[in-house]
Amino acid sequence: MPFVIAEPCIGVKDKSCVEVCPVNCIYEGDDQFYIHPDECIDCQACEAACPVQAIFPDNGVPEKWKGFIGKNREHFANK
Ligand code: SF4
Repeated sequence: MPFVIAEPCIGVKDKSCVEVCPVNCIYEGDDQFYIHPDECIDCQACEAACPVQAIFPDNGVPEKWKGFIGKNREHFANK
């Protein structure tokens, strides 16, 4: 159950999540930050740190932002 960064991050990219992630699995993309789904250890630290509530466990992403589950995974597809 990796965590996922959704639409509120776009245009904000606050970076608070990057500072608290104990395994450094949050990476910067062009429009938002992304969580590497295989590296995330589900500690929840980023969820609490995000000032715009952009981060959710993958089974708790609001319906309108479900597409971000795939968007986070695809960001790492060729890396
Ligand atoms: Fe990093 Fe923990 Fe957030 Fe996963 S849940 S991205 S390990 S801070």
